[in-house]
Amino acid sequence: MNEALAAWAADPARSRGRLHEEPRDAQRSAYQLDRERIVHSTAFRRLMYKTQVFINHEGDLFRTRLTHSIEVAQLSRAGARMLRLNEDLCEAIALAHDLGHTPFGHAGQDALHACMAAHGGFEHNLQSLRVVDRLEQRYPGFDGLNLSFETREGILKHCSRRRAEEIEAGEPGGVARRFLDGTRPSLEAQLVNLADEIAYNAHDIDDGVRSGLLEVEQLDALAGFGPLRREVLAEHPELARHERRQLFEVLRRMRTRQLGELVAHTAAAVQATAPASVDALRRLPALAALPPQGRAQSDALKSFLLHALYRHPQVRATTDAAGEVVQRLFEAYCAAPHEMPADFAAADERERAVADYIAGMTDRFALREFQRLTGERSFPSALQPGAVFDRVAAH
Ligand code: MG
Repeated sequence: MNEALAAWAADPARSRGRLHEEPRDAQRSAYQLDRERIVHSTAFRRLMYKTQVFINHEGDLFRTRLTHSIEVAQLSRAGARMLRLNEDLCEAIALAHDLGHTPFGHAGQDALHACMAAHGGFEHNLQSLRVVDRLEQRYPGFDGLNLSFETREGILKHCSRRRAEEIEAGEPGGVARRFLDGTRPSLEAQLVNLADEIAYNAHDIDDGVRSGLLEVEQLDALAGFGPLRREVLAEHPELARHERRQLFEVLRRMRTRQLGELVAHTAAAVQATAPASVDALRRLPALAALPPQGRAQSDALKSFLLHALYRHPQVRATTDAAGEVVQRLFEAYCAAPHEMPADFAAADERERAVADYIAGMTDRFALREFQRLTGERSFPSALQPGAVFDRVAAH
């Protein structure tokens, strides 16, 4: 055990191991190897062209799944160091947490889930695990990346009881067990989950304002934002005329404060229970949390973003069109599986193979395939680059 780490930090030397046993690397820990495998995977590179909120072609400066994942990794590592947790494990989980997302963000997932209703459904968390366990094909001895238990446990953030039972049947005592026996994942996984929330609340405000769909003044009534903006303007009155710089400063303080609150509250909870090991910690209630006031502020930010941004008519117009692209691609491949690469076309469970193939696509590849298979242009012309978000700032 590294002496710099807490007793309840995940210890790579005591990992529950990989699905396929491998000799230990003399130079790198299990979690370092996991992170490296994720960074070198095809699914990771595809995140670059997958929608976070704004469809990828709407502007070069909006977050994509890739930059979102990197921001989550940054916040997770910072928090992990403060809490003396394993930074490599946090980073591996953060970089992999969104690998299972479809093109076009939640609209893509919802459409694919509807298509798969009679075939077991589609859920991005489960798909992230499927990507690292099966769909990446890069190693001679096994499918997937053969990541360690702790990284896979962190990736499987949510899971229905039915799905958990299925996974448990194939992997007894494995990553789905906790959804059946009500235990928790490592503190590293808990931390990444909250870092995800801190990251997207801040960057979706940034992207929303950049797009012109949100005005900063709309956020002034929110306790997690308004007081910080007033503080920034009181300290730097000149920023009243520099909206971008002002917003960066407010969001920087918002992230810093939320991370600080998360770390302090979590450290106090851990101290109060003093788990002797990761396994002892798994049996305790969740220890990583924002304090009640911070939780309420974060929930209010999420609810604001849901109504003002994610359900904004202009966002809905693009995401509705994207949902239709996914649905029609699904129908097209099911009717003509030979339009997919040979290994997908030859799979036994046709619908699942089609879902895997579509889920792996980048936004722009999905649009190209849509055009190839249907002969139609996928998006109404009003939604082509530049037409909707003509206020996109150049900086
Ligand atoms: Mg995320």
